[in-house]
Amino acid sequence: MVLGELGGSLARALQKMSNSTIIDENVLNECLKEITRALLQADVQFKLVRDLQMNIKNIVNLDHLAPGHNKRNIIQQAIFKELCKMLDTGEPSFMPKKGKTSVVMFVGLQGSGKTTTCTKYALYHQKKGWKPALVCADTFRAGAFDQLKQNATKAKIPFYGSYVESDPVQIAVEGVDRFKKENRDLIIVDTSGRHKQEAALFEEMRQVSEATNPDLAIFVMDGSIGQAAYDQAQAFKQSVAIGAVILTKMDGHAKGGGALSAVAATKSPLTFIGTGEHMHEFEVFNVQSFVKRLMGMGDLSGFIDKIQEVEYQQPEHMLKILDGNFTLRMMYDLYQSMLKGSMGQALSLLPGLGAKLMRKGQEKENQAKIKRYMVMMDSMTKEGK
Ligand code: GDP
Repeated sequence: MVLGELGGSLARALQKMSNSTIIDENVLNECLKEITRALLQADVQFKLVRDLQMNIKNIVNLDHLAPGHNKRNIIQQAIFKELCKMLDTGEPSFMPKKGKTSVVMFVGLQGSGKTTTCTKYALYHQKKGWKPALVCADTFRAGAFDQLKQNATKAKIPFYGSYVESDPVQIAVEGVDRFKKENRDLIIVDTSGRHKQEAALFEEMRQVSEATNPDLAIFVMDGSIGQAAYDQAQAFKQSVAIGAVILTKMDGHAKGGGALSAVAATKSPLTFIGTGEHMHEFEVFNVQSFVKRLMGMGDLSGFIDKIQEVEYQQPEHMLKILDGNFTLRMMYDLYQSMLKGSMGQALSLLPGLGAKLMRKGQEKENQAKIKRYMVMMDSMTKEGK
């Protein structure tokens, strides 16, 4: 996973630098060498890596630092700033507004994870109080409607599609009309993909777009293609007004860093990343939070975002967190909710828990830790909590 492998290597390089008794040119060079190696292994373009290395060296300039400066902090901040610059995907994208109907069209190549991502996107918003609905206008891939139906049913999200109608435009229009009448505030249209970029795919995308007039077109791309994401994103951008990009399969693939930097180079706003096949393996992409996690610094805003999902049913807890009146009793309730849901993900966002927790397969260990904390809390009196 991009966060596991790349994050692990970056965090280790920084830790090694921090552990050195004296920070000099050699220590800085060694740290930069390790960061460079990690980024190249993640398929980040050589020129981007070289620029990053040179910019950090220019910013830090150890020879000109007056004594008393915290060199570790200066280096860490320079690395943070340059990584953010490299992965900054441009202007923020259009965000649908709760309570006002928005139509969001999903496009992408076949196999990129488009259909799965439609439901993840719907579920993400549903957990935050939206009323999403799914329309399957993918009439090209056999089984696409069944897949969407199955996912939507599991997530308890209304869906629309047809086994007999072969015109994607008609299905899209019917589905959007129906859900507008039902006052759904987020209508998600899944369109057909193709094995490769071809004229028929782009023509169909244009027709569905014209007929449904979406507020946002989201391009779903397979993150495992690494640097090749640049050309694919450019080709789609030229055919449809792409308002946002989602990179999928950012779990198991070492090339995720390359895909991220490539999307950033096209200046397409990256809004979410897919981190697994399960419905909850889906995260908001925020460049600063992401880089903080890559560097092992945790991400409190991401943690709050996850907690908000959990807290949708218990909003009074959220207010107390924001007031600073958070009690152990509430922490206990949160742990309980987390054990039911995507706990591993939420925990990995906490500062200090590091990239170790981001690796797959550690969920069980983490759950055991949480259960131990809960047993400790169980032994406390009500007042103590
Ligand atoms: P579509 O043809 O673009 O609609 O792609 P699908 O949604 O059918 O997904 C293709 C495959 O990719 C399926 O096996 C999905 O489970 C898998 N997939 C989708 N998103 C992710 C992801 O973020 N991580 C992983 N590991 N697999 C994913």
